[in-house]
Amino acid sequence: MSEFTKLWEEYYHIRNRARLGLIVFVIAAWTVPIPVAIIFRNRSMLVEMVAFFVAMGFAATITLPPVFRWANWKCPRCNEKFSEPERRSLTTPVWLLLPVLWRLVADSPCARCKLRSGESPDDVVI
Ligand SMILES: [Zn+2]
Repeated sequence: MSEFTKLWEEYYHIRNRARLGLIVFVIAAWTVPIPVAIIFRNRSMLVEMVAFFVAMGFAATITLPPVFRWANWKCPRCNEKFSEPERRSLTTPVWLLLPVLWRLVADSPCARCKLRSGESPDDVVI
């Protein structure tokens, strides 16, 4: 097994875990508010909101680390983040990074050098 084959297998493993983590987080975001609302229904709105944010923070802490690990995976050719396009400045709003999540859903090439997953990093860029 060649070195880049191992790299891509690592990438696929990380990407699959990130996909699973994102799916579980979305499911939690839709289902967690229901038991929180039932448990805290007789409390004040502030207590209910705090409970909701604590529950969502707990769900995010469990499910989203694989997504961040995937987002930080470095391209074997350009050694930049494979999924993150170049930000023009630090003031670029975070919501402009939402297309990064699309890269998790689709089998997208490197955001910087367009290396497709599974290709040898030594392939010539056309
Ligand atoms: Zn690249």
